[in-house]
Amino acid sequence: MKTVYFDNNATTCVAPEVTEVMIPFFKEYWGNPSSMHYFGGQVRKHIEEARGKVASLIGADPSEIVFTSCGSESDNMAINGAVEASGAGTRIITSRVEHPAVQGPCRHLRDQGFHLTEIGVDSAGILDMAELRESLLEGPVFASLMWANNETGVIFPIEEISQMIKSAGGVIHTDAVQAAGKLPIDVSKVPVDMLSISGHKLHAPKGIGALYIRKGTKLNTFMLGGHQENGRRAGTENVPYIVGLGKACEMAAAGLKDENRIATLRDKLENGLLKACPDTMVNGDRKNRLPNTSNISFQYIEGEAILYHLSDLGICASSGSACTSGSLEPSHVIRAMGIPFTAAHGSIRFSLSRYNTEEDVDYVIENMPPIVDRLRKLSPFV
Ligand code: PLP
Repeated sequence: MKTVYFDNNATTCVAPEVTEVMIPFFKEYWGNPSSMHYFGGQVRKHIEEARGKVASLIGADPSEIVFTSCGSESDNMAINGAVEASGAGTRIITSRVEHPAVQGPCRHLRDQGFHLTEIGVDSAGILDMAELRESLLEGPVFASLMWANNETGVIFPIEEISQMIKSAGGVIHTDAVQAAGKLPIDVSKVPVDMLSISGHKLHAPKGIGALYIRKGTKLNTFMLGGHQENGRRAGTENVPYIVGLGKACEMAAAGLKDENRIATLRDKLENGLLKACPDTMVNGDRKNRLPNTSNISFQYIEGEAILYHLSDLGICASSGSACTSGSLEPSHVIRAMGIPFTAAHGSIRFSLSRYNTEEDVDYVIENMPPIVDRLRKLSPFV
């Protein structure tokens, strides 16, 4: 069966060039990079090379990059580590549309007694900057606000946000898991203190991530033990995956110019679906979005039912609903945007990558209308 993979915000394929550079680190160079002997020691320089490539993708100094196991670990490390280091009176600020990897640790800290503010968004998923400004009046603050949303692709004005937080004397972390590799990022211009990256969102394998920590940022360590990663994260390094992440970041940096081609494909898909299927709407600010993401509501029908039919045709996408306690609830992002009930339930996320083609787009545009027609005939809301 033909596979059309439009679920790249969930995970991406590992680029063949990435697999290729990893293999020697399973077969020949399997030494421990902390060893004194040449056999282990020769591995260390490859870790440092990879660190340089990750740093270069975001305009950081290599010494500011710590390798982690995933984006979730990077988020947890930044949030728990910074709040713990800054002490009891810290007020935590985040948004209502963050990924659970940010929401979870922030709410856990709230349950332990920290004050938490979750800033709202409007119906286009745009952050309420007035609410953010107001929440900064009582310092000191730690903020975690995402660079780009995983469900809608909406981009937060992170440069302006980080300048506001820094002027208020706060510390700011940004979850750039969806932005890294899709948008230019330069931490020498955007004054964030910490920034999370995940390998499997940019064609490296699952199980590797990185946290950028600006020099001088106070951060408690939660992985204690050995002195790896400059004492910031104990544990023998996952060398093949680190090397793979380095290669993926190098390729992402070189491929940023290709993002226009991806945006053109995404727009063709989006406009084609809106035209071919009545009662559809795009969720999220169409001007300020990741180039690869389109979140479309097919009104009056369930997203899961659409996905099921698409999957039968080899088309992979995601819905904005989560099956909780047996009922299909629209995601917290869609609910925070106040999308009407009949649209919220039928939201589908299409997320493209550099491996998608025009034929992929045509295949989906051709196959979607009969699915929507069939489901609408069964819908109690039509
Ligand atoms: N943050 C965002 C915005 C994400 O989209 C994801 C994964 O979907 C994560 C964090 C978690 O990353 P990982 O799967 O590497 O733990």
